[in-house]
Amino acid sequence: MIDSSIDLPSGSGCAFCEYLRGSRPFAFVSRGHLVSTLVTREQRGTPHLLVIPNKHRQTILEVTDSEAAALLIEVRDAAFAIDAAYQRPGIAVWQNNGISAHQAIRHVHFHVAGTLDSGGTNWGEVEELPLADAKQIAERVRAHWPSRR
Ligand SMILES: [Zn+2]
Repeated sequence: MIDSSIDLPSGSGCAFCEYLRGSRPFAFVSRGHLVSTLVTREQRGTPHLLVIPNKHRQTILEVTDSEAAALLIEVRDAAFAIDAAYQRPGIAVWQNNGISAHQAIRHVHFHVAGTLDSGGTNWGEVEELPLADAKQIAERVRAHWPSRR
C-alpha cells in the first residue's frame, strides 16, 4: 500500500486474489508470470476482458515498472485476440482508480472490450453471465491469442 488521496471501495477480501488462488472459480484466458487475463461475468462489450497483475495492487499507483510493462503488453495482446476472434469495429480500453472513478474491486484491472453491435460499451446494469458462458468466451479468445512478438 502507498500513501495517496484515492478513496478505495470498502471491503476486506479481494475477489481477484481469490480467483488467482483458485479458491473461487473464474474464467481465465491466460495466467502469466506477472499478469493474467480473465473474462468478466459483467460483459459490457463483445467480449469484455480484464487484465490484472498477479500480485495484489490496489490502484495503478502501486504497480511496479515491470508489472506496468507486462500489463500493457497483455492489454495489447488481449486487443489482438479480440480483433481476431470477434472482428469488432472498435475496442475500448479503460482503467478506474478510486470510488469517484467507479472502481468497484480494490485490485487494479484494465478493461479491454470489443464494442457492441449498437456501438460503444454498456455502462448500465448488466446481467451476470453464467460461468460456463464466460469459460466459452475465454476459450474462443485464447484460441486467437497472439504468439510472442
Ligand atoms: Zn487482489
